Amino acid sequence: MRRKLVVANWKMHGDLAQNKVLFDAFRQRLDHLTSADIAVCVPYPYLFQAQQELQGSHIAWGAQNVAKHEVGAYTGEVSARMLKDFGASYVIVGHSERSTAYCESDENIAAKFVVARKSGITPVLCLGETLAERESGLCHQVIASQIDAVLKTVGAGVFAHAVVSYEPVWAIGTGLSATPGQAQQVHAFIRDRIAALDVHAAETVRILYGGSVNPLNASQLFVMPDIDGGLIGRCSLNANDFEEICRAAC
Ligand code: PEP
Repeated sequence: MRRKLVVANWKMHGDLAQNKVLFDAFRQRLDHLTSADIAVCVPYPYLFQAQQELQGSHIAWGAQNVAKHEVGAYTGEVSARMLKDFGASYVIVGHSERSTAYCESDENIAAKFVVARKSGITPVLCLGETLAERESGLCHQVIASQIDAVLKTVGAGVFAHAVVSYEPVWAIGTGLSATPGQAQQVHAFIRDRIAALDVHAAETVRILYGGSVNPLNASQLFVMPDIDGGLIGRCSLNANDFEEICRAAC
């Protein structure tokens, strides 16, 4: 039985004062929801604030990106080892808002996933198709090539106890969520693809759904057998909404 996980992605929102209000609200409302795992991924400058505000709490925290290299002359980059050193538990890799804007290849994203795992940080690997790809019947093919980039690099064992997030690009921030049935179908496809190589990895990898999850659709999504929680953008900036979503995972 996999524990549900809900990850907040604050994207490039917030400031010290606004974050403090949200951290306080999260501690008050979510700290006792211990039957699911909860994490907040913040912009780099606020990692220190997350570390301070969430100390001693059941809510974990992490970053939204990481360098694909372990160490070296890479100005402006932050390594997985640095995140680990700082106490971060999670890092989002391959979010489509980054891969689109900064032309990140599947191979780059796979390298980030591997380096995070090696450093003891749990990567949240985002996979997903665009609307044009879905409408052309290419959804499974696109998802397969995104997973295969990792499988080719290090094999399926790396997915054991890891986190993958299916995020259809057309559903992110648009208010258009995949139906529970559509999401379940892709989640099962992802799990089967990993299971073909490593059954233990497939059984223990948590596959989140991301894309306009809200308090109304969360429980219908989370009840599906292969949906192990959610990656939440917009609704994670509202303490009421995020609490409802976390409750749906409990
Ligand atoms: C996301 O950015 O990961 C996301 C799922 O955003 P939203 O919930 O706003 O669609």
